[in-house]
Amino acid sequence: MKIPSPSAAEREDLALANRMLAQQGVLDGYGHVSARCLDVPECYLIGDRTPPGNVRANNIHPWTLDDEPAGHTHPTYTERFIHGQIYRARPDVGGIVHCHAPELIPYGAAGIPLRPIYHMAGFQGEEPVPVFEIRDEFGPDTDMLIRTMPQGQSLARSLGDRAIVLMRGHGATIAASSVRQAVYFALYAVMNARILTQTLLLGGKPTYINANEGRNVASVMRDASRTWDYLAAQVAD
Ligand SMILES: [Zn+2]
Repeated sequence: MKIPSPSAAEREDLALANRMLAQQGVLDGYGHVSARCLDVPECYLIGDRTPPGNVRANNIHPWTLDDEPAGHTHPTYTERFIHGQIYRARPDVGGIVHCHAPELIPYGAAGIPLRPIYHMAGFQGEEPVPVFEIRDEFGPDTDMLIRTMPQGQSLARSLGDRAIVLMRGHGATIAASSVRQAVYFALYAVMNARILTQTLLLGGKPTYINANEGRNVASVMRDASRTWDYLAAQVAD
């Protein structure tokens, strides 16, 4: 297999994505962001074990879709199998975020459907976000982390063709066409969950974004450039 040679811009975008999502509270000491390699689509870039808020371009290395190092000996996160197995299952995906954002947890653990109430989250689609239940295939005695390739493949099946899958009691994984779009999806998925929770606590009956509205919003926000530019300025070195 060809070893990727990621450009400085690819590494820098991914480093910025990590720091932006940490600064926004979507990631903390845990969670990770990856990007499919532009020159070798059978590989992806991800940080070493550095906390997301501290990731710089020199912390980023390529991995294969078997979640093995591509031409190096650096470590990465335990849950790397999330990334390789979604890139393998979804050729359309170019960027992935895995987070433990607390705002999303009730919707994966309490049987409350997560749907878009906020136009910025229209990309989620009208139907409730799918929920991955690790016990279904791996029994009641896991530590809930995605530690193996079969667990990563199971998560990818739960995601299906959607942009986000909730992970019961754990967090969520977001898949997008690029790392920039993945940042935007992750940020607004968390905001949407916060707004929906507030609405339900107020006793309101939500009117959700329908499929056409969601598609229209997603189409005009595809590159997320304004969000990206704004957040990049806040985490610049
Ligand atoms: Zn996790």
